Amino acid sequence: MDFHSSLAEHGSSQTFASEADAPDPLAHFRSKFHLPKSPDGHDLIYFAGNSLGLQPVTVRTYIEQELDDWARLGVEGHVHARKPWLPYHEFVADPLARLVGAKPVEVVAMNSLTVNLHLLMVSFYRPTPERYKIVIEKGAFPSDQYAVESQLQFHGYDRSGIVELTPRDGETILHTDDILTTIDREGDAVALIMLGGVNYYTGQAFDMSAITAAGHAKGCIVGFDLAHAAGNLKLDLHDWNVDFAAWCSYKYLNAGPGGIAGIFVHERHAFSFDLPRFAGWWGHDKESRFKMGPDFKPLAGAEGWQLSNPPIFQLAALRASLELFDQATIAELRKKSEKLTGYLEFLLNNIETERISIITPSDPAARGCQLSIRVHHADRSLFEKLTAQGVIADWREPDVIRVAPVPLYNSFTDVYRFSKILEELV
Ligand SMILES: *Cc1c(COP(=O)(O)O)cnc(C)c1O
Repeated sequence: MDFHSSLAEHGSSQTFASEADAPDPLAHFRSKFHLPKSPDGHDLIYFAGNSLGLQPVTVRTYIEQELDDWARLGVEGHVHARKPWLPYHEFVADPLARLVGAKPVEVVAMNSLTVNLHLLMVSFYRPTPERYKIVIEKGAFPSDQYAVESQLQFHGYDRSGIVELTPRDGETILHTDDILTTIDREGDAVALIMLGGVNYYTGQAFDMSAITAAGHAKGCIVGFDLAHAAGNLKLDLHDWNVDFAAWCSYKYLNAGPGGIAGIFVHERHAFSFDLPRFAGWWGHDKESRFKMGPDFKPLAGAEGWQLSNPPIFQLAALRASLELFDQATIAELRKKSEKLTGYLEFLLNNIETERISIITPSDPAARGCQLSIRVHHADRSLFEKLTAQGVIADWREPDVIRVAPVPLYNSFTDVYRFSKILEELV
């Protein structure tokens, strides 16, 4: 029997979770992470991997290696460290490319997310009086809203240049048809479409392939903020023809607070050296970088968008983390994730209460790990009681608890325990 029929039949039985955990080929990855514990030593139920992913056990070794090489070699570490610092960012290109469905030349790890959105908009938001608008989703993450509005202002426009994709009256999530219709209707005046791959609040995953095609058909540039999609969904950025994307690495990618972010620039822009860009020496041709000449010669591909030499300790943490994604593979993680989140949804729907409802789409293709639970009457005390019972999730104003069982380190038993605690509280 496949997972979904057995869920429908036995999902509420007490043994379902342990019977689902036992054959799980990814279950052993849990032991590769530090799980936060309660004061009395129990594993907390950690459902906040969409906010800050847990620490891979190997991160310490990877960072210590760089501390040792720095201590041992000083500046010579740039060339003689076991993993030399000069090309260090190149060590994550292949795994990052595998993770987001890109070619290595299309990705680079650099800076942090909002900074990268701006740098990419410098190149890819090029408004003209006829075509200057930017399409975003209503309720986009605040930093993205600020970034977009300030880019408009920088070019002499104001927020009336923002086209917001808005749910139908009384609804919370967007219909793909409505998104495509808006693009078709407004597209001639739109310079840039920039949506989240997964909306941080509702957990809705957008059809990035269809949106990209619709945008291109109207002559728009299409970029995605993948903060909640990288390491969560199976992405095919190259094949989807996305122009650019950016993501952070501290959420599903488990590379630590403030971790180094990543960008994707499609190969067809890799050699477009006439794109405007803000330049720095790390984006300059490697052969002549240390000739220290005055003329900027950008590297081909995403690397050409780098400005500064990168933080090696952050990159070391990212290396450790990406190794786990390579071992598990995003395809297998996604399979498990659909089951985990499907199980969570099933159990929540079986709780008899009027106090909560799930706003995340029920179609597995339209969401990742996260379920957003609307708490009626915005009763935050429910969230506080969950926390007191050992559940780490988060509250997003005005009335949502976000929970994200992630397939690398969460189990079906975590989901079961969570649902029992919640059932008790409502
Ligand atoms: C988490 C998140 C950010 C955070 O931006 P930083 O620059 O990393 O602080 C921005 N946008 C979205 C959509 C996010 O989910």
